[in-house]
Amino acid sequence: MAGIDITALSTVYPNGVRAVDDLDLHIADGEFFALLGPSGCGKTTLLRTIAGLEQSNAGTITIGANEVTAVDPGKRGVAMVFQDYALLPHMTVAENIGYPLRVRGQSKAAQREIAESTSAGLSLAGLLERRPAQLSGGQQQRVALARAIAMGAEVLLLDEPLSNLDARLRLEARTFLKRLQRELGITTVFVTHDQAEALALADRIAVMESGRIRQLGSPREVFQRPASVFVANFIGSTPMNLLDAVVVEDEVEVADARLGRPLGLAVSDGDKVTAGIRPEYLRLAPRGTAGGISGVVSTVENLGVSSLVSLECAGGVLVGVTVPEQDEPPIGSTVTAVPEPGRLLLFDAEGSLL
Ligand code: ADP
Ligand code: MG
Repeated sequence: MAGIDITALSTVYPNGVRAVDDLDLHIADGEFFALLGPSGCGKTTLLRTIAGLEQSNAGTITIGANEVTAVDPGKRGVAMVFQDYALLPHMTVAENIGYPLRVRGQSKAAQREIAESTSAGLSLAGLLERRPAQLSGGQQQRVALARAIAMGAEVLLLDEPLSNLDARLRLEARTFLKRLQRELGITTVFVTHDQAEALALADRIAVMESGRIRQLGSPREVFQRPASVFVANFIGSTPMNLLDAVVVEDEVEVADARLGRPLGLAVSDGDKVTAGIRPEYLRLAPRGTAGGISGVVSTVENLGVSSLVSLECAGGVLVGVTVPEQDEPPIGSTVTAVPEPGRLLLFDAEGSLL
């Protein structure tokens, strides 16, 4: 197995788009690494550049002990699974899985053997004689994975492998993928635009924007201490609440509320900042509770056992405060939302975490 080292990598398309922009990245041997970011931020290009399917304009890529920047895709020791799986439609499942061996001139028996051994662990055993069109999306995805594994690669590159599955299958495939990666211990780079997928699967996440990595960390780090408003907005099942705030007498003031001293932060009286608080860290308290932000209930969304409440307050809108269904406040009433101690984040005028 092998880690991946990327230094000062740029990939510029002929039309001038810098899809990967002077990027440095180290992925450890055996790591399950997620590249996360909005559409167009350069995830696919980075993956294709690692695979050698796009030529970089600057920088180096090293896989294991070998610098592969100018090496042919087939000789880099990587296998890539594409978003649309790219199965060969006229071939059976067994032939698709055995295809990498066929390309290398290995025998029919060897091809059949690899198809049988990989398909067993991937719940494909009964499907070897079918063609891709006769399979469900989840099955096609597993065939694409089996074929990638059959390549005997040291690095697995997965470009949004779950995005073509419906919600229920996606959840199943997620669990399955995690288990498979753990069993194989294969270095895996997983591209997704779905933050929940990245948080659930990855050992570490790189959040990308405009061809660059904006933050790199464990799922917990990226979730709890987003480096910027951009990352904060991108991670979380509901976006982080961001409110205008000002520093008054060494305390953060949001709307009518004093929310404590920002210990150790480089702020002084009169500074305008943005206060960020995840909905998960807010609870509703009786009106006027100290340390809370008061606002008028604007929407209440029933989720079955709980309800999501949104408030309009002086600094902005607070969304996604969860309350038990029986505690739903009436729309138009004034309530107070109290942040859990220590969960308030402050961002400067440029949107960087203070
Ligand atoms: P993502 O996978 O994150 O959605 P891509 O890597 O596909 O992003 O694209 C990054 C940027 O490069 C986008 O601005 C996209 O329009 C551009 N791009 C992608 N492929 C090409 C191409 N073949 N030629 C020119 N520009 C491209
Ligand atoms: Mg893409």
